[in-house]
Amino acid sequence: GVILTNQVMQNFLYKRFLTTPDRVAFHYKGRDYSFADVYHESYKIAGQLTANGMKKGQFTGVLLKNNLETVFILFALQLIGVRAVILNNRLTSGEIGWQLQDSKAKFLITENAFDKVQTNIKYEFNDIITLFKETLAGKTNEPELVKEIALDDICTIMYTSGTTGHPKGVMQTYGNHLWSAIGSSLNLGLNDRDAWLCTVPLFHISGFSILMRSIIYGMKVVLIDAFDERAVIQLIHKEKVTIMSAVSTMLTKMLDDLDGESLPEAFRCLLLGGGPASRSLLEVCKQNGIPVYQTYGMTETSSQIVTLSPEDSLAKLGSAGKALFPSQLKVMNESGTEAVPNEPGEILVKGPNVTSGYLGHEEITAEKINDGWLSTGDIGYIDEDGFLFVLDRRSDLIISGGENIYPAEVEGILNSHPGVSDAGVIGMKDVTWGEVPVAFVVIKKNHDTCHDELESFCNEKLAKYKIPKRFFIVDEIPRNASKKILRRELRKMIHM
Ligand code: ATP
Ligand code: MG
Repeated sequence: GVILTNQVMQNFLYKRFLTTPDRVAFHYKGRDYSFADVYHESYKIAGQLTANGMKKGQFTGVLLKNNLETVFILFALQLIGVRAVILNNRLTSGEIGWQLQDSKAKFLITENAFDKVQTNIKYEFNDIITLFKETLAGKTNEPELVKEIALDDICTIMYTSGTTGHPKGVMQTYGNHLWSAIGSSLNLGLNDRDAWLCTVPLFHISGFSILMRSIIYGMKVVLIDAFDERAVIQLIHKEKVTIMSAVSTMLTKMLDDLDGESLPEAFRCLLLGGGPASRSLLEVCKQNGIPVYQTYGMTETSSQIVTLSPEDSLAKLGSAGKALFPSQLKVMNESGTEAVPNEPGEILVKGPNVTSGYLGHEEITAEKINDGWLSTGDIGYIDEDGFLFVLDRRSDLIISGGENIYPAEVEGILNSHPGVSDAGVIGMKDVTWGEVPVAFVVIKKNHDTCHDELESFCNEKLAKYKIPKRFFIVDEIPRNASKKILRRELRKMIHM
């Protein structure tokens, strides 16, 4: 962004190493790693990457598992000023090839676990050099350390989840990450006992932003390879975790496992985002004293941009809160004017954490960003006290006989049924109403919940037009790596 031009700082990891080398940076698999350890490991890898021909300003794909070595590699790239195109682990060879070409990457850093996927990537134009992490140590050089970084330089490229269509390569600058971390700490506060548990993917902004907070704050991060509710709860106790980031499906599993038991006093914040959270889930947390902070953000905002402050968490249940200190928020109605309180419309956001655009796609950028305001494609409203309520994505809205139905609301009700483990709702074409809602439901093991029961359950809780006209019992709801419902996959299921 314009505001940040020409501002330089010391390389974040290098600065952190100079400032507090002995503090614990990561707890991983039972061991603590200091910031000095992280710096030295990353420096070593930076030398290996240099020996393999990597140069400042280039782009490299990163297709790696969620572990500490990946953290070292991601920081190594920052040390030599190479931009990381961070790839979702669950992408197909075709999708990876597309993202690498779209970002004009020169390299791909991967590991043996992705060998099959890697061999099947087809590059239509420029060649890409693949480096396997297992063989990196083969040669090394003295790396050319980038000790100073420009805040408007690109640090990472992250493709959006592709929930609504083709993923878009979001440019995230050092300044974007810095302001995101600042905004978060100005809201949540920060103290020397803070430890942030990371069980969300590092290839996603939710996870990557935790790494950036670690070096910017000088804070301990407790890293875990894959989500497992029991392991997470044990780590919260043992490592005195104070904050964790989670999505609804994780929280639901943790609540089941806790079975009414509370978390330690020191655990002060469960940052819940990534998608809609149902009222019933928030109410259970409230009863069990789980300190949930609803939050709203996206790849384009380098993580959270709107978060509910602690003092409002009970009074404004269901709200995502207010824009963080560095950022702004507004809602525009269909006629293109700013919505009045409680009037739904498209959510727009602005701030130094917001991307300056999509890599190599000026047209999409111009369409989505105007005078710094990013059109999010999400619908929501701001209440009379200034609190944002996110309803759903514009593209998922169901309009039935002129009434708006937000799938997320209906899914929330279905998920609160004791026999239901997951649910997805979409609109189906209808001659009378234009569209009607239909539901896909996964029934819990040892339950025999039937269509009639689901219908009468909805009848008690939802206006008539919102009640799904059909219920399809399925084994699984299609979700992407960020656990978001792929409603277009559900649409295919009824159109087959
Ligand atoms: P694509 O842009 O390619 O369709 P995506 O939008 O799912 O993919 P992300 O950037 O990972 O990719 O996700 C951000 C989106 O997640 C938001 O735009 C919003 O739709 C949804 N989301 C995030 N937080 C919330 C929330 N608190 N409530 C409702 N939806 C949320
Ligand atoms: Mg999006």
